[in-house]
Amino acid sequence: MINLPAEKLRDIFLRAGIFDESTFETMRIEAERKQQNIAEILIARGLISKDYFFTLTAKALGVPQANLSFIKIDEALLRMIPEDIARKRRAIVFGKNEETGQFKVAMEDPIDLETVDFLALKLGGQIEPYLATEDDLNKGFSLYSERLTQDFKTVIENSIQDSLRAQARGVTLEESAKDLPIVAIVDNLLSYGISSRASDVHFEVLEDGVLVRYRVDGILHEVIRMPKEIHPAIVARIKILSSLRIDEHTHPQDGRFRYEIGGTEVDIRVSVIPTFYGEKMVLRLLSAAQKPLSLTELGIFDDGQKLILEAVGKTYGMVLACGPTGCGKTTTLYSIMNILNRPEVNIVTVEDPIEYDMRYVNQVQVNVAAGITFASGLRSILRQDPNIIMVGEIRDGETANIAVQASLTGHLVLSSVHTNDAPTVIPRLIDMGVQPFLVSAVINDIIAQRLVRKICLECIESYTPDPQIYTVIERELRDLDVDPKAVRLTKTFYRGKGCDACAGTGFLGRMGIFEIMNISEAVRKLIISSEFNLDNLRKLARAEGMTTMFEDGLKKVERGLTTIEEIFRVIRE
Ligand SMILES: [Zn+2]
Repeated sequence: MINLPAEKLRDIFLRAGIFDESTFETMRIEAERKQQNIAEILIARGLISKDYFFTLTAKALGVPQANLSFIKIDEALLRMIPEDIARKRRAIVFGKNEETGQFKVAMEDPIDLETVDFLALKLGGQIEPYLATEDDLNKGFSLYSERLTQDFKTVIENSIQDSLRAQARGVTLEESAKDLPIVAIVDNLLSYGISSRASDVHFEVLEDGVLVRYRVDGILHEVIRMPKEIHPAIVARIKILSSLRIDEHTHPQDGRFRYEIGGTEVDIRVSVIPTFYGEKMVLRLLSAAQKPLSLTELGIFDDGQKLILEAVGKTYGMVLACGPTGCGKTTTLYSIMNILNRPEVNIVTVEDPIEYDMRYVNQVQVNVAAGITFASGLRSILRQDPNIIMVGEIRDGETANIAVQASLTGHLVLSSVHTNDAPTVIPRLIDMGVQPFLVSAVINDIIAQRLVRKICLECIESYTPDPQIYTVIERELRDLDVDPKAVRLTKTFYRGKGCDACAGTGFLGRMGIFEIMNISEAVRKLIISSEFNLDNLRKLARAEGMTTMFEDGLKKVERGLTTIEEIFRVIRE
């Protein structure tokens, strides 16, 4: 995002009447402390929307906005700047002004004169800079990757042949792991994975070969099959990178390393386990540059945000995120911590693993071998005078009880619990051995969620669904104890046709669907009463206006953010 000097931003915001001088000053000091962009903090806090910020900025700088989502970019023009330069300079050539002959360039920072001059020289002509959002730039960058698939496969095939020839000459495993072809294969698999936005790379050993798959937006896709002969060398290469023992083949091993591509650093967590046909590896790609998202970006509507902000605004109590593995709970907890991360508070976490490195937050990694579990870690953190504590997960009575004690004694505790919906968290904690009156007293809010894939905006289309779908939706609503007549059902549905930007899947990126349960006085009373059971709790929460995940999903279907099939896919997880 464009990084304007504070003076300029102050001008923009004060003139637009968004803040007074002192609010702006508070934000400026905070941004300086966190070494973050002021605009990003304002956006993360929900004080200003991204779109409005870009409109104001473009106006103040006197440049047009690029809006690449609605423009067909000419590929020949795009390729006048090679991909690595485009990425490094954060600029995309997207058109040519017929009258003036100037190149239209979408830029993250259109007043960066050094880049303007550099690009003019490179293009051999004058340029007309436009202000681009991150989405604009990503659309441009994704166009480069069209031909990448082809190139990638060719490079890998060639490297495999080279490597097989080297093995035929009788090189050792260790030599071959450092040999160019194997290094090139691993490099290509990683960099192609990163540019495909993969979160995990799986190496599956089969009877007759090795299958490489990427997980993109939560779904595994086959990328390439490789001959089994080169697998040991690839495993050895990755073990060397992550400082694991290459002569150990019978025990599981975990490690990590940092990988750099085009100026971005990616932390890679490696897990190797022996299987019948060989060692299976899973690489998790954790983008180090990834920033916590705002509640809006997570997909939480305004009324939900209000509940969460109220709950985390207290100086005590617990806010719990719940859902199955991979449902985005941790991302939600990080977003909340980012909101709470202010100079006057001490935030300490115990996590497994630490997924983002947060400035001014003291993060402790669970390390069972060193005696750090969630419970023991939590006990130690309490001696560090924290205000806010984040415990990655509560999955046993010991951790649950320490967390409850902490939240009773003036700490705000954030954590996650593995349950399918929000109300179930309450009986789960009681099952773990927390007294009902304590559960009733400490919880502020429970956020249940799932991740759905977002429809690709490049190829979105509307359609009228088969009427059958309404029967299925109504049945689901009735199962949830919701009167279908009370829910407005849209007649128009949306889906992605599939295009280059989304690799033909029709989806790009993910967002959450949420169920936010506020623990009101009535809910507290119910928990400690003899009437308490899960059904009554659900009924009460619904009567108090809790929107179920499914209903939240339907709203997102109506707005064309995701498909009805996605909602059904995740809701049944
Ligand atoms: Zn698409």
